[in-house]
Amino acid sequence: MLILAIVLTAFSLFIYITQSRDYQFDAVGNMQEKLVRLQTYFHSAAWQNSNLSPTDVPSNEAPLQSGDLIILVDINGQILQNWGQNPANPNELVGTLLSAEAQNPDARVYQQTIPIININQGKISSDYLFIIVPVIRSDSLLGFLILGSPSPLNDHLRRLTITLLMGSLGMLVVAFLGGLWLADRAMRPVKAITNAAHTISESDLSRRLNLPGHDELAQLASTFDEMLARLQAAFERQRRFLADASHELRTPLTVMNLEVGRVLSGHRTSTEYQHALQIVDAESTRMARLVNELMSLARMDAGQAVLEFEDLDFSDVTVEAVERISPLAEQQNIILEMGEMPELCICGDRQYLVQMISNLIENGIKYSGSGQKVRIENRLIHNNNQDFVSLRVSDTGPGIAPDHLSHIFDRFYRIDEARSRDTDEDSSSPTGSGLGLSIVAWIVQVHGGEIQVTSKENEGTLFEVTLPIKK
Ligand code: ADP
Repeated sequence: MLILAIVLTAFSLFIYITQSRDYQFDAVGNMQEKLVRLQTYFHSAAWQNSNLSPTDVPSNEAPLQSGDLIILVDINGQILQNWGQNPANPNELVGTLLSAEAQNPDARVYQQTIPIININQGKISSDYLFIIVPVIRSDSLLGFLILGSPSPLNDHLRRLTITLLMGSLGMLVVAFLGGLWLADRAMRPVKAITNAAHTISESDLSRRLNLPGHDELAQLASTFDEMLARLQAAFERQRRFLADASHELRTPLTVMNLEVGRVLSGHRTSTEYQHALQIVDAESTRMARLVNELMSLARMDAGQAVLEFEDLDFSDVTVEAVERISPLAEQQNIILEMGEMPELCICGDRQYLVQMISNLIENGIKYSGSGQKVRIENRLIHNNNQDFVSLRVSDTGPGIAPDHLSHIFDRFYRIDEARSRDTDEDSSSPTGSGLGLSIVAWIVQVHGGEIQVTSKENEGTLFEVTLPIKK
């Protein structure tokens, strides 16, 4: 509003100054036209008789139009004769005009506000423009002829001022109301976003702004919506993780509780105690393993997992993992078959890589029946002008149905809960919690690699890990 007011004021001043110049120019032109007619008239016979009067000539050429006045003065400023309107103080007026002319001889017209004696209205004040013409005969100055005519200047300028003032004020009012309306319209989506943001709480992340349109604010709102969707998914994952983790921990605790309660409820034989202790041992091992896996995942999520990268021969690491897991294979009567193991240099964390390979082999052992085979081999492969290590762990187990394949890397995802949660009292086989493959996927990812799984039901499963080779 302030800027607009300044611009309007500057604009109005400009218009006022140029218009008042134009008006003045027109007024001078008019006066000179009158003077020309007057001179023609003075050279006519009428002037010679000194009987100048408005009625002496046809009206359109009359030198004296209504309101005009002519004063003839001698060289000393003495009024010789006057025609037309009667100024109240003619001598004073002549004096003022002659001194104004003496001071500023270049001015073409002089503007004065003079009192005029009007027959009907008495003495009234009005604005006049005067032209002073020297009267020269035979090269000698005889006096001056003063022509006065009512000035339209002030009237015009007053009207112009009012027009400019009203126009500017009107524009300011329109701009103010329009600005309010526009600002309100423009701010409405922002208010909507603010209100929605206020109502969205941690427990209700399902709300969306859904602002229609394609402008910047709609884009902002849709970015906000996308962010909410991501937050909601993250919160959902966290909630599910917490629920799954507590569920997983509760199961072994319940089993131990029941077993301990059962043996303590009466007198038992030493075989029964031994059996109960075996169950407690298996369940506590399971719990310890689960807690370890949970801690690993928590560290990975928090970005606190410390990896010690070093140059390694990947086949060395694979052999270490195989050695670590072979007692389990023997126990389960599974044949571990080693394929090619060429020297392949990569940069990675030995501990984590051993864990990754062990998890894959362990799954092969766990889910294949007795007498089956798990094959491990390493190869060098070439892809997109780059060399990679390819680790393939394949088994001849039950395979994974296509519906489950895309989920097996999810946390706590188990295909057959009964099969993987083996609480058989005699079994010391490792039981699954559904975290193994998500840890594998994370380790592969931090090493800049990829993992793929192909499986056919009742034929077997193949996990292939590719890791970039060290140049
Ligand atoms: P778990 O700790 O239960 O083994 P994983 O994340 O390692 O969890 O595996 C997820 C699920 O994928 C398992 O419950 C199992 O059903 C399936 N799975 C993994 N590896 C194999 C495999 N080699 N053969 C058949 N099923 C497998």
